[in-house]
Amino acid sequence: MKARCCCGALLEAKALEEESPLNYHLRLGCTACANWVTVSGRLEEVTPLVERALWSNEARHELERLPPYIEPLVREEVESYAAQAGCRVMTVAMFHEARNRGKVTWAPAATDRLANIPAPIRSMAKVEIERMAIEQGLSEVTESLMDEAKAKFLGMRGRP
Ligand SMILES: [Zn+2]
Repeated sequence: MKARCCCGALLEAKALEEESPLNYHLRLGCTACANWVTVSGRLEEVTPLVERALWSNEARHELERLPPYIEPLVREEVESYAAQAGCRVMTVAMFHEARNRGKVTWAPAATDRLANIPAPIRSMAKVEIERMAIEQGLSEVTESLMDEAKAKFLGMRGRP
């Protein structure tokens, strides 16, 4: 889908704001003059107006919170994950999906240890540990990462 300015030139998607999971504001700027418009609606309604990869303001904020040496890796990982899914818009949801279900694999010993984690918290622990791996630029969860995760989780609960 293409949108045109009153001057006749094409409008280009410039920014996306996520107000809620049901309401997005897409800002389009004219490629020739200084005009801009905002289109609001559900993600699937505004997405057809996006021609190139576009990060929402909120997803970009998540990216910018990462350490500078990791940011380019995560940016590329999220964009390639989104491209494989046929998506051009990087939302916070896409950001987390890409990071949690990226290419992280589990070493056999780490898988065994995961099985020892009590069932009610196992899936949450798995997501958190995979996120730590991605933050550290690792493609595999190892036993040493699990030791680190354990220390972090226990520390978070304020235990000695
Ligand atoms: Zn114009």
